[in-house]
Amino acid sequence: MTRKPLPAVLAAALLVFVWGCRPGTDNQEVRGRGEGKDRWWDALPRAAWSGLERVEQSQEWFEVYRVRPGVLAIYEPGQFEEVISYLILGSERALLFDTGLGIGDMRRLVSELTDLDVAVLNSHTHYDHVGGNHAFDAIYGTTTDYTRANARGRGHDQVAEFVGPGWIWKPTPEGFSPDAYVSRPFTISTPVEDGQRLDLGGVELEVLGTSGHAPDALCLLDRERRLLFTGDTFYPATLYTHLPGSSFADYRTTARRLAALAPAVDVVLPAHNEPTLPGTELVALADAFAAVEAGHASFVLTDGLREYDFGRFSLLVTDPPPWQREPSADRAE
Ligand SMILES: [Zn+2]
Repeated sequence: MTRKPLPAVLAAALLVFVWGCRPGTDNQEVRGRGEGKDRWWDALPRAAWSGLERVEQSQEWFEVYRVRPGVLAIYEPGQFEEVISYLILGSERALLFDTGLGIGDMRRLVSELTDLDVAVLNSHTHYDHVGGNHAFDAIYGTTTDYTRANARGRGHDQVAEFVGPGWIWKPTPEGFSPDAYVSRPFTISTPVEDGQRLDLGGVELEVLGTSGHAPDALCLLDRERRLLFTGDTFYPATLYTHLPGSSFADYRTTARRLAALAPAVDVVLPAHNEPTLPGTELVALADAFAAVEAGHASFVLTDGLREYDFGRFSLLVTDPPPWQREPSADRAE
């Protein structure tokens, strides 16, 4: 999940409203997310997409773009997350890196884009990346408790906010009802781990364990083409270090690791908003974590969270920050 900054007063008021209206819900995924989105869609279309070839398919809900030969970005601009899934094609098989929100029919979309057998791998298991998982048989995944818990699905009360007023501007597909929206369960068929290589036939992807934003966060490295698919570990907006299951310390370690890889990466392909950014952003991310932890960066308090602004992205951190609390306080829940 993501990401956009918004007016603090509005956010605070709506946060109170949302929490006040949802007694009994344990959904903390909305915290700091900016429920008062104030016509966020006015920023669309984003210029970053304009230079890419649009790929035809039959569902209004999705937009598909060819980022590289055999790399398709599947964009859902109609909902606040502006989530991006990626279909990566080899000569023998394809990998679907995330399945989006579960509002459009991802399975049908993919069948229109390739005849290859398709396996799913999630960048992590927040609701906006696993929505279409249930329709696929081959699902690679980590074996963390966090992944297993999320694979059991999320009930309507846990995800209703994300399809409520202010979250969606586009007409939703026929047959979709916000009142019935859930995150459906799925089954991991094949475990993956850090360092594993996935051979698609002429395309090899290296799995990087990049916990921080979420415990099961992964990036995918295509060394040959110098591409890094970053999931929610990096995208050009507010990055979350504070969610249930997040770990600032792990995220910082991940950022260092990715910065060390930056010389091997020309392009990062994030899971929200924009499909291609320079590999040098990985260095900026590590520098940002270092500056925050060293106390060299300034912040504003938003919804009781610290937001550190670095221009292209910002970091959202708990207040007080984890390094000023007990070690066990990081990675709460
Ligand atoms: Zn996420």
